Amino acid sequence: MSKGKAAVFLGPGKPFEIRELPLPDVEPDAVLIRISLANVCGSDLHFWRGDAPLRLPEDGWIYGHEMTGRVARLGARVKTDSLGRPLKEGDRVAYTYFYPCGRCHACLNNEPAACPAKIERPLGPSQFPHFHGAFAEYYYLRARGALFLVPDTLPDEMVAPVNCALSQVIFGLHKAGLAFGGSVVIQGAGGLGIQAAAVARDMGAATVIVVDRLPGRLELAQAFGADHTINLDEVPDRKERVALVRRWTGGTGADVACDFVGFPQVIPEGIEMLRSGGTYLEIGTISRGAKVELEPSLLVWGSKTIVGVIQYDPWVIPRALDFLVRNRTRWPFDRLLSHKYPLEKIDQAFADSEWHNRETTAITRAALVP
Ligand SMILES: [Zn+2]
Ligand SMILES: [Zn+2]
Repeated sequence: MSKGKAAVFLGPGKPFEIRELPLPDVEPDAVLIRISLANVCGSDLHFWRGDAPLRLPEDGWIYGHEMTGRVARLGARVKTDSLGRPLKEGDRVAYTYFYPCGRCHACLNNEPAACPAKIERPLGPSQFPHFHGAFAEYYYLRARGALFLVPDTLPDEMVAPVNCALSQVIFGLHKAGLAFGGSVVIQGAGGLGIQAAAVARDMGAATVIVVDRLPGRLELAQAFGADHTINLDEVPDRKERVALVRRWTGGTGADVACDFVGFPQVIPEGIEMLRSGGTYLEIGTISRGAKVELEPSLLVWGSKTIVGVIQYDPWVIPRALDFLVRNRTRWPFDRLLSHKYPLEKIDQAFADSEWHNRETTAITRAALVP
């Protein structure tokens, strides 16, 4: 075994190309991981569609980041996972896919998630270590990456979303200050929004409200702990939706509201749904250039806060795994992953995940089994 397959992205509108690449020599502090499951995340769709910024390397790009796998080769100096537990080849792991630099103001302030250098400029597949993303048989975890042993009780299907959707949501709600007995509005019931409902519940939220327009997703949100759902098509008037949130939060508005939609038009409404002093969590809109009109005085007079979160600090991953262990029978996690495809069918996986121009889709998360 000296080669592995990877799906190379050549730009929006073009089919992926399956290529065989040499397995890299593993540096002393790095780990080569044999990927067992790689999900198609909402942000992957943005690149595929062409509505997210992208400097594509000349020979293409192997991307994707929501994944899990087994240790294939340990670097000579790696003996344990990031919590000091003994690690050997064949062990199942969950891991970060970004690399805080350790040498900037954010890193120095112990905010690795805010490190501006943590995601390197995309490298092409011909560049070492070749396996730069999840849509491949292997992933090369660089020296500064964090990795954690996965409890045997969790199937791969539950673990794959841990390093993106689930950790993002946990860190985001933590940063937004969701507290025991609090109330939260979740805009968008996709992969992140659904898990946010469950995480908010587990954090002790008293009221969880989810807004979307796809009935299937709203039903799933309820199955994951939402108390109330608002279907945009059934309540087309924004004022009425805001009034519903007020009614369900004792007349005050929510402590926290979150954008998990990815289109900034939802933001002013989410801010309006907050109580005075509430916090808006912005995670969904990653597309540069996407704009929205905002009335800043509403923030001032309402003493409201906006928190942006692009990644999470690595301590979140083991807590995310613990969350899954204690809640694995409480919510139907098996419903989050709806479709599986072999790596060769990656074009199909993306096409089936696309919901942008459609009213409904059965897919919550599509996964590749490379
Ligand atoms: Zn993601
Ligand atoms: Zn840094």
